[in-house]
Amino acid sequence: MKFSLTCCATAKQQLEMKCEQHGFYCPDQVLRYFPESEDQCAWFGLIAENATYRAFYCPWCRGELHSRNIPNIMANVALKKIPEQTVSIYHGDEFVGEATYIELNDLRIQIKNNQAIGWRVVWMGEIIPIDHKSGKLHEWPKGMFDLMDEQLMELI
Ligand SMILES: [Zn+2]
Ligand SMILES: [Zn+2]
Repeated sequence: MKFSLTCCATAKQQLEMKCEQHGFYCPDQVLRYFPESEDQCAWFGLIAENATYRAFYCPWCRGELHSRNIPNIMANVALKKIPEQTVSIYHGDEFVGEATYIELNDLRIQIKNNQAIGWRVVWMGEIIPIDHKSGKLHEWPKGMFDLMDEQLMELI
């Protein structure tokens, strides 16, 4: 593991240390990074003879040993803001409003229950009539409200 941004050169050298003679248990290495595991977050440890102490500050420069000092570990994971998709709802030629997935489904139920004609969805330039008997869309374009399904497929 490469530490690109540690508090000081000594900490960096310690954390990146790879001793050919002693391997993982090199007595010259007293500061070590413990990556995130299933039951605990990443932490820094000061290694003593019979124990490892959790270190919050660098023993050399007193800099904070914080996981933000190791941005490369988090580099591939970010909380993204994903705007909710909407479609345009028209009744005849009249624009009624933008609808989210659950709002569209609510509308479809009402259309079915009332056998209401003339409702349509406009999405990416496509006009899709909503069937007044079933509340179903005449076709379901690829990419329309299918992000959640795609996400769940990736989690299987
Ligand atoms: Zn060594
Ligand atoms: Zn330091």
